[in-house]
Amino acid sequence: MRPPVLDPLFAPVSVVDGIGPRIAKLLGNLLPVPDAMDEPRVLGLAFHLPHSIIDRRKQPGIAFAPEGAIVTLKVRIDRHQPSPRGRSNVPYRVFAHDETGEIALVFFHAKAAWLEKSLPVGETMLVSGRVEWFNGRPNMVHPDHMVSEANAADLPLVEPVYPLTAGVTPKVLRKAVLSALERVPDLAEWDDPHLAKRQGFERFRASLVNLHAPRDEADVDLQNPFRRRLAYDELLAGQLALGMVRRKMKKSAGRVFKGDGAIADRIREAFGHDLTEAQERSLLEIGADQEKPERMLRLLQGDVGSGKTIVALLAMASVIETGAQAAMMAPTEILARQHFTSIGPLAEAAGLRIRILTGREKGKAREDTLAALSAGEIDILVGTHALFQDSVQFRDLGLAVVDEQHRFGVHQRLLLSAKGQHSDMLVMTATPIPRTLVLTAYGDMDVSKLDTKPPGRKPVHTVTVPLGRLDEVVERARNAVAAGQKIYWICPLVEENEDLKVASAEERFDALKKVINAPIGLVHGRMKGDEKDAVMRAFKQGDLRLLVATTVIEVGVDVPDATIMVIEHAERFGLAQLHQLRGRVGRGSDHSSCLLLYKEPLGEIAHARLAIMRETEDGFRIAEEDLRLRGEGEILGTRQSGAANYRLASLADHADLLEIARDDARLIIEIDPDLQSERGKALRTLLYLFERDEAIRLLRAG
Ligand code: ADP
Ligand code: MG
Repeated sequence: MRPPVLDPLFAPVSVVDGIGPRIAKLLGNLLPVPDAMDEPRVLGLAFHLPHSIIDRRKQPGIAFAPEGAIVTLKVRIDRHQPSPRGRSNVPYRVFAHDETGEIALVFFHAKAAWLEKSLPVGETMLVSGRVEWFNGRPNMVHPDHMVSEANAADLPLVEPVYPLTAGVTPKVLRKAVLSALERVPDLAEWDDPHLAKRQGFERFRASLVNLHAPRDEADVDLQNPFRRRLAYDELLAGQLALGMVRRKMKKSAGRVFKGDGAIADRIREAFGHDLTEAQERSLLEIGADQEKPERMLRLLQGDVGSGKTIVALLAMASVIETGAQAAMMAPTEILARQHFTSIGPLAEAAGLRIRILTGREKGKAREDTLAALSAGEIDILVGTHALFQDSVQFRDLGLAVVDEQHRFGVHQRLLLSAKGQHSDMLVMTATPIPRTLVLTAYGDMDVSKLDTKPPGRKPVHTVTVPLGRLDEVVERARNAVAAGQKIYWICPLVEENEDLKVASAEERFDALKKVINAPIGLVHGRMKGDEKDAVMRAFKQGDLRLLVATTVIEVGVDVPDATIMVIEHAERFGLAQLHQLRGRVGRGSDHSSCLLLYKEPLGEIAHARLAIMRETEDGFRIAEEDLRLRGEGEILGTRQSGAANYRLASLADHADLLEIARDDARLIIEIDPDLQSERGKALRTLLYLFERDEAIRLLRAG
């Protein structure tokens, strides 16, 4: 149960004074709207922080007010000059002066009665707004504030500026935020007192209130202690949640898998290459986990082509040596099949029984596989998320390997591991993820890194070409195909609309078909699984020489003799994605190249991003740069990961806090795993506050 003290914050925004259903709905464009609600929560308003300030402290006197500057003037009202009758497009002017000069306060479509009351002749007033000079005369159009000298205290000298949305004025928003703040209770402190002292953290409520009342630029800086305190809270909630999930999985006691190495040896022999130093190191780390009586939860991070598959297979081997089974799950049909074809022969050479199960295995074949699986007559089952289904029962699942994890989530991770009572989990990702993101999205995992590539890999020559020179590129493709090369041609991402993507791919396919003197193929997301496979197979076998594709080939697809990668509208892709795509070539013995076609003119960031692609093939570096240039949300994709859900913390700016939060969370889980202590109770509130549902579910489960 959510602590009742939080109820006022979890109420819909329309409970706040001055917010009706209309504004509440508009605020939904600005603030997160929870699943079961049709408007944001009060909490969302309280967390909606100003990004800058308006400084009204400048009081230079009329004659010295700089053009365009916001100033506050103390003036005496001299006379009113209403709009001439019937000519409301001529503004209403109020003239005023101070000891330095005269100014016109200018109002369009204003009510005369209201102005006479607000700016009485003979009165001394404080007015604040932007001064503009016309023909040597200063004007202030619609002053932001007009108060009498007696009410000078009502004039805010520094005003916070909030991100806005259409239809909600700054005034309305500000008022709503202030009402929301009144509903923020002073919550029991969950931060460690020593940490708070070291970091200069104030209490939660005080920090929030201060952030909404900035006094100067430093107060809206991401590094001020109030902001850092809230960022820390958010990060801590995230790390605590991940830590609790991890503990839950580890607690359901693991098993000791210590094989005799017999199967692994046969696989190595069949593989025929020496493993790289990084592969051996990762296998040692995995082996050490497997031998421990705890569950393994390990992330195997490796750039495209770094050789994760053989590592996974050997890890499976040692589990199978003890008599258990292994599963390998991929996010797409194509990838599942590819894993099956690449590990199948090795596994079979080592005497293992391997099968595949996806949505496409139906009827009798499916029944057979399921029966064999539960009878323990299958050693390795490769598949898609079809493996999550209830009907899929292993006799004894010892290791689940999940490829390309970031497409799944913590929840699915739990589901698959529930298939085996004590099974280990190895997650593989081909997206090199910056360290900070590993922590936020995979904080619950140990990490092995394949940071060197198998030998013999040739660098991919990367060039950027404006789309205006498309004809030259087509000509080059034509010649290359004639010379026996194989080409990938990636079509532009047209928004996130699959139909448009398909249309543009089909168009390009038709155009290229006319000029390339060899069979070419098309593969896109609207095609059925077996159609896609057939096209991919034909390309792999060489029946097709050029493959036009949307990004369905993005991950993992292996055609070693493809040597040219053309990517249209490269500026629209994420760097990680470009890197993935480029990794499709340079896999064989021939020199490869990657042509990034871009639409001119390129913005500064887009330019920098493409330049990085030319400069380096180091996926980890590319990922770091991508994070720097674009921010975290884009990298993992907003929906798939929790990483983009941060409202107060910025991974780029608060990376130091993230590290502290991780250590803090570890310690908390070690000494008070069920959050029963005083601090533990406060931390429960923190989890609710940041809606860390997965952790809350675990708390409830006891
Ligand atoms: P990824 O990490 O992208 O999944 P793969 O496991 O598909 O990479 O490996 C890419 C290619 O490199 C495969 O053809 C694989 O057989 C080969 N490979 C992997 N490890 C080695 C090695 N140690 N020596 C030689 N080739 C290797
Ligand atoms: Mg792979």
